[in-house]
Amino acid sequence: MKTTLPGPAHPDGAHDPVARLIALREAIARRARDCGRAPESVRLVAVSKTFSADEVWPTIAVAGQTRFGENRVQEAIPKWRDLRARAAALGKTIELHLIGPLQSNKAREAIDTFDVIETVDREKIAATLAREIERAGKRPRLFVEVNTGGEPQKAGVLPEDADAFIALCRDTHGLTIEGLMAIPPADEPVSPHFALLGVIAKRNHIDELSMGMSADWPLAVQLGATYVRVGSAIFGSRG
Ligand SMILES: *Cc1c(COP(=O)(O)O)cnc(C)c1O
Repeated sequence: MKTTLPGPAHPDGAHDPVARLIALREAIARRARDCGRAPESVRLVAVSKTFSADEVWPTIAVAGQTRFGENRVQEAIPKWRDLRARAAALGKTIELHLIGPLQSNKAREAIDTFDVIETVDREKIAATLAREIERAGKRPRLFVEVNTGGEPQKAGVLPEDADAFIALCRDTHGLTIEGLMAIPPADEPVSPHFALLGVIAKRNHIDELSMGMSADWPLAVQLGATYVRVGSAIFGSRG
């Protein structure tokens, strides 16, 4: 477990993940209303990657957060076996999102561990997920990741290939694609990327948009995000 030094004394508890999470939830609801949206139409995925089960636990037990995101299958398995069991003892059901790249040899474990897989982005993964879902009889919700910036080092289907890939997932592999996910380039204004994701979703009749992180979630809410993925603004910086 990571040892955390106590932060500087802060009268409103702003250095505490529970306090930050509660304030963030209120800010998201306020932002949604300001954009003419229903607050409950924007859901918060608390990104807990790199933080230990004990560090995450108060956000579940005290703040009542049940929706989390992890980017590594192997990190998530033991951590969330533990946290799901602890949450279940309080009558809470966890909804865990995979937001990092998925290798096809981890597909079976991913299906067992995650409720939502946000990073479907190539045929091999689509085919493997289809086969393993059949075998497992458990059906995680699936989002397609779009590389809106066309960055060569980044995962995700290219925008110009998105329609064909979504059709392939649906028609060839029988997968239900409920959402799109994007991580815009770090060095560009994010709004055009969020808007593009919305356009691709709309023409493919996809309802869920996973976009917006600690630095840019207000813009994402304005541009139609139904899930925002926020880590450091809740848990602090990741070493
Ligand atoms: C780490 C991560 C986040 C959260 O980023 P923060 O800047 O810490 O809010 C969101 N989405 C993905 C895909 C991530 O890997």
